[in-house]
Amino acid sequence: MTLQYIPYTRSKSSVRRTRELETVRVMVRLYCRGHGHHGAHDCSEGLCADCGTLMEYATRRLARCVFGDAKPTCANCVVHCYSAAMREQVRMVMRWAGPRMLLRHPLLGIRHLFDGRRPVPVLPAQPAVKPANVNNDS
Ligand SMILES: [Zn+2]
Repeated sequence: MTLQYIPYTRSKSSVRRTRELETVRVMVRLYCRGHGHHGAHDCSEGLCADCGTLMEYATRRLARCVFGDAKPTCANCVVHCYSAAMREQVRMVMRWAGPRMLLRHPLLGIRHLFDGRRPVPVLPAQPAVKPANVNNDS
């Protein structure tokens, strides 16, 4: 397999992002119900407070993803935009819901697996970040 360059895009017609959001939503819902949480969050999903917060967070991160529609699946991404706590939480949800998702929503699950096999795009014009404590003795 040869690596292929994916152009950076901020296209509004974010088919892939919409699908990723749907995937996350399905997984969080499975996880929440599967753990017998009780809906207290004021969203239409019937999620508990914690899962609802996670879902809101994931939605925000996804909407602001720097890759736009060239976005890799989050697990393959080189940019870690989640906070450490949220990352741990979403990872737990994915690990639990991933296999179950393939049974309940095979199409969405399979598409996500395929999306995960696409080459990971490289960030355009990455600003060079200097380590803070190097060359300070001049
Ligand atoms: Zn929950």
